[in-house]
Amino acid sequence: MRPISYSRATDTATAVAAVSADPTSDFLAGGTTEIDLLRQNVLHPRRLVDINGLPLTGIETTPEGGLRIGALARMSEVAASPTVRERFPLISQALELGASAQLRHMASMGGNLLQRARCSYYRDAVSPCNKRDPGTGCSAVEGFSRGHAVLGTSEHCIATHPSDVAVALMAVDARVHTLGPQGERAYEFDDFFLPPGDSPHREHPMEHGELITAIEVPAMPLARHSLYLKVRDRESYEFALVSVAAAVSVVDGTIADVRVALGGVATKPWRARRVEDFLIGARVNRGNFAQAARVELIEARPTRMNAFKIELAQRAVVRALETLTDGDGDGDGDGGVHGDAHGDGDGSGRSPA
Ligand SMILES: Cc1cc2nc3c(=O)[nH]c(=O)nc-3n(C[C@H](O)[C@H](O)[C@H](O)COP(=O)(O)OP(=O)(O)OC[C@H]3O[C@@H](n4cnc5c(N)ncnc54)[C@H](O)[C@@H]3O)c2cc1C
Repeated sequence: MRPISYSRATDTATAVAAVSADPTSDFLAGGTTEIDLLRQNVLHPRRLVDINGLPLTGIETTPEGGLRIGALARMSEVAASPTVRERFPLISQALELGASAQLRHMASMGGNLLQRARCSYYRDAVSPCNKRDPGTGCSAVEGFSRGHAVLGTSEHCIATHPSDVAVALMAVDARVHTLGPQGERAYEFDDFFLPPGDSPHREHPMEHGELITAIEVPAMPLARHSLYLKVRDRESYEFALVSVAAAVSVVDGTIADVRVALGGVATKPWRARRVEDFLIGARVNRGNFAQAARVELIEARPTRMNAFKIELAQRAVVRALETLTDGDGDGDGDGGVHGDAHGDGDGSGRSPA
């Protein structure tokens, strides 16, 4: 039995002051991660500051056509928002494909970004795990690693980031707004998730006591034509083996703009910038999609159990892009790279130095 004190915050400044003053305290939102891990002896807060009464709810549209999603907006509410569905279908789909209906009603958007790894060694309080107990080693590297990451790994940690919606938000250049002991801050989404490197226990650049207040999604007309594809071991209530968030615009059979991010394969929501660089200006066809996906996965480092994710991720990228561009291609059915699609002389998609 461990005693835990519980209080309800009524304003954001008091919540930040309470948690930042006490290193053994945590914020509590929906509790679907925090309480699970507390029960499993993985997290050991002595004090929980309940933030559910704070005015951080709601989904607003910005004058430019973007979104400002309150940190306490529930996953189900954001998924069902007509504006989100219309302007950012990939966000809505990523949310609907996550967890279960009951969990989505409980779980907040801020908590979703800060959910913890689903690595079974991390969640087993007695296994060595650098993320949970720094310096104890990574049990997954030589252990059961079928679901683990192939991109962004280090010798100290290969756990994937489990959030679905974070992958969609990564694709659309979201920003995370916070209030901490030093005041307000805004993080670019890619900077908000730290790769494990030598310190896998440090997952975000935030200070202890820094509160996520909102997620900002910039206007992106391209995102109206977007999707989230999730590949998993069973059709519902399961984390991704591989997922792809993608948005594409095509002009006369050529890709004018594209955004792609991957989930289930990396230690953080993974922006597939190599796919994007390769495809902008390329013709719409399967060969180009496949080549772009290969280029992204070149640096994948699989374990003996998860090499299948490399092929699966490539196929998922192709499927997502084909689904989005169905009917936009040149229709010659050859499925091959069209000569030097980028005019760069080597088919690499990179400009000559
Ligand atoms: C069985 C199960 C299946 C799931 N399946 C999926 C899935 O398929 N896809 C998916 O994406 N997710 C899935 N999840 C994860 C779920 O989405 C998260 O647990 C949930 O989003 C966390 O939100 P919460 O409000 O409950 O956070 P909490 O549990 O309250 O908090 C999570 C962490 O974030 C901190 N925190 C919360 N809000 C803030 C804030 N505003 N500022 C600073 N810190 C904060 C807390 O201190 C805590 O450390 C699943 C969860 C379960 C239990």
